[in-house]
Order: sequence, then structure tokens, then C-alpha cells
Amino acid sequence: MRTARLIWVLVCFLANIEGWATETELATNPQPLPVTLLRSSCQCGQCYVAETLNFRIQWCSSAIQLRELAETCERLKSRTQLMWLGTSKTWEARCEIVVHPTVVAYSRILGPGSERTSGCATIRLNQGRVAVRRIDLRADAADWLSESLPHELTHVVMSERFTARQMPAWADEGIAMLAESPEKLQRRLHELQGLIAANRTLRLSELVSLNNGPTSEGFAAFYGQSVTFTGLLLELGTPEQLIRFAEQGQRDGHDKALRDIYGIESWTDLEAKWRTYAVSPRLRLLARHTLPEPKSDGLVTLTPKKSGVVTD
Ligand SMILES: [Zn+2]
Ligand SMILES: [Zn+2]
Repeated sequence: MRTARLIWVLVCFLANIEGWATETELATNPQPLPVTLLRSSCQCGQCYVAETLNFRIQWCSSAIQLRELAETCERLKSRTQLMWLGTSKTWEARCEIVVHPTVVAYSRILGPGSERTSGCATIRLNQGRVAVRRIDLRADAADWLSESLPHELTHVVMSERFTARQMPAWADEGIAMLAESPEKLQRRLHELQGLIAANRTLRLSELVSLNNGPTSEGFAAFYGQSVTFTGLLLELGTPEQLIRFAEQGQRDGHDKALRDIYGIESWTDLEAKWRTYAVSPRLRLLARHTLPEPKSDGLVTLTPKKSGVVTD
């Protein structure tokens, strides 16, 4: 008899409590989506739980705000699925989203250390399918809606493709960070460029082998390198190639995956390309505000578009 296989994956977003909140363009589609508001058991006695086809959302707020958030989540999910997986299929298990009013309520659920994060995705895999999807967010964090929600939702979407084996950390975080705003990515780039200048980065061959993510000292380098390496691979190939590289790298080794998928023989060549990329503004051209919308057939090309924000 086959043993039931359970994998829990927790991916959290570092808090930006005092930070800026960027404008969000997530709820601009004028077509309303079906949202059902149900009575909540919340102590305030006045709020609702929103249910849509793919989400169940608890947030102690007005009915109008809750409905807008529910529609935003559905649109983000479809957009991310089309972008990366070429499908917008309905999930078997709804994604539970809880927006906690305070850090105390948030860390009571997620445990010690979680107060340093502003959002966290929890995914449970069972026998090749996603059995549990959940996102916890902190309403007291300035960026929970504009940054943490798209980031964590991207983790949830990508878990559909990695149900047999956990997605490698560089790709999981690299892809999720591309859902962040250009301003957030600029800050990550700035930090990374300081680390490059101080010679405190990892070799790319090491980065792709860090399956469980970085140690606390290597945190900034890991995130900055993951998102810029992901950006570079999206210049060298398609989103599907990038995902296949992540899959094959785990299975057959990254040397073979690099040769088979990108026709690149040497990590030294790739490292040189990455160093040029990491000190350029090209990453910001891939941020969500400048990503091309998925075509109706689900196929996406990620040729960077020029925007008014950055010039190459
Ligand atoms: Zn309430
Ligand atoms: Zn993440």
C-alpha cells in the first residue's frame, strides 16, 4: 500500500511595517466576480467571510472592502496561473486567506519569529495534489495588500506545478518576488549591488542547490540573487523553460539542466551574464506593472517592455 505523503511548506514575507505602500492596480478590472458574503464568527460581530470559487477570506473590515479583496484575489490567481502555468483552472481546495488585525493575532497562529514577516503561505501536499492552501496576512503591515498578497499568492499558484517535490527555493522566491512592485524590487537590487561590491554573494551553482533556503546571514544575498537570476533566465528563455530548469535541476543535476534547456555549458559564462544583469535596471522591466498581460490562449511572452519608469 502506498504511504500517504504529506509535505508542509511555509513561505513567509518579511515585514515592511514602517515602509511605503505603493499604489495597487490589482482591482481595476471593472467586471464583477461572484462573491458570497457569509456571517463571520468574529468577536466584532459585524464582519463577514467572503467566499468565491477559489477563496475563503476572513478580514475584519467593511463588506465593500472584503468584496474588493475577494475579487482582487481571484484576478491575481488567474493572472499568475496564466502567466506561469498556461491555465486558469479552478482549485479543488479553496485557498483560505486570513487577514489578521494585529501582529499578536498573526503570530498566535504562525508561532514565534513570525512577527518579522507580514505574510505567510502554507501549503500541504498530499499524494500529488495540493490538499491545503492558506495565506495569513497582517493588516498592520503597510505593504500587506500591495506586496505580501501578490507574493504569497504566487507561492500558492506555483505549488500546483510542484506537487511531487518541493519547488527549489531560488525559483519559488524568485518568481514570487516578480509579483512585487518595481519600487520593492529596486530596493532589493540596491541591497544586492552592495553585497556584490563587498563580494558577499553566492556562486549561482551554490544558489540553485540551496533547496531549503538561506541561513539568516545569507538572507539578503539569497533573495536578491534569486530574483535577479530568475529575471535573467526569463531573458534567456520562456517561463516554461525556467520551470523545467528548476524541475530538471533537482532531478538530473543543474549542469545537465543548464545544457539541455538553455544550451549553456559553463556556469562561468552564466555567472558573467548574471553579474551584468544584477547591476542593470533590467529586472525592474519585469516587475508586475510592466509584465505583459497573458494572452487569451494562455500563452505568455515575457519580452521586457520599455516603461516610463526605467530606461535601459
Ligand atoms: Zn470582525
Ligand atoms: Zn516568499
